[in-house]
Amino acid sequence: MSKKIFCTLFCAFSALFIFSQRPEADNFKTKKGDLTIQPILHGTLVMQFNEKIIYVDPYGGAKAFKGMAKPDLILITDIHGDHLNEGTLDALEINDTPIIVPQAVADKMSEKYQSQLHILANGDDKKLLGIHIKAIPMYNLPIADDAKHVKGRGNGYLLQMGRKNVYISGDTAGIEEMRNLKDVDIAFVCMNLPYTMDVKEAASAVLEFKPGIVYPYHYRGNPDMSDTEVFKTLVNDENTDIEVRLRNWYPSYD
Ligand code: ZN
Repeated sequence: MSKKIFCTLFCAFSALFIFSQRPEADNFKTKKGDLTIQPILHGTLVMQFNEKIIYVDPYGGAKAFKGMAKPDLILITDIHGDHLNEGTLDALEINDTPIIVPQAVADKMSEKYQSQLHILANGDDKKLLGIHIKAIPMYNLPIADDAKHVKGRGNGYLLQMGRKNVYISGDTAGIEEMRNLKDVDIAFVCMNLPYTMDVKEAASAVLEFKPGIVYPYHYRGNPDMSDTEVFKTLVNDENTDIEVRLRNWYPSYD
């Protein structure tokens, strides 16, 4: 094989390998120990804080969680299959794990999980495992009864862990409740049409609440992935203090 062909094949293989890998976890220091954030898939992430493992919207089957410690806490934002996924829950070790959900999610869950559920409505809060959890509204605009995400059904979440405030948007437009958030250190913001919002609306909302770090997530849309590079440019053209972290939220787990 000529050197040129070998290099071309090697580069193509490397690119495929890098693209398909789950990204490295990110580490943050807090007043009460380290916080680790691991993107998993689409709107799904795993966090570790103070020895406790938190799964958000577990989805993707057991293979997406290979190598992850089992969860001490699960948060679910909404009823759709990329958020509430009982097939994935069934495949994980979550016998006594508390699961935070809105009522609409509780209503759809099997009897076997009911005793583990802690139901939060928009605006409710709760402290579990030393983590303060507040349910934040998430909904489409304009508000409509036939919207994909009707107001009041799903929960975004604002978590306080060792004085670090972490915001998980869930599936939402750039609603006023997001724009009015204060002191968010780390934010996960969705951007995909026709389910949530476009990158322009997401950037406009982020520029208003000014998180320290923002991860675009949940950006697989119809017909394509949203252009998160454009989102980053829109944010940083206006405000260079907001760090936009682009990660591959769509690794291959096959
Ligand atoms: Zn979704």
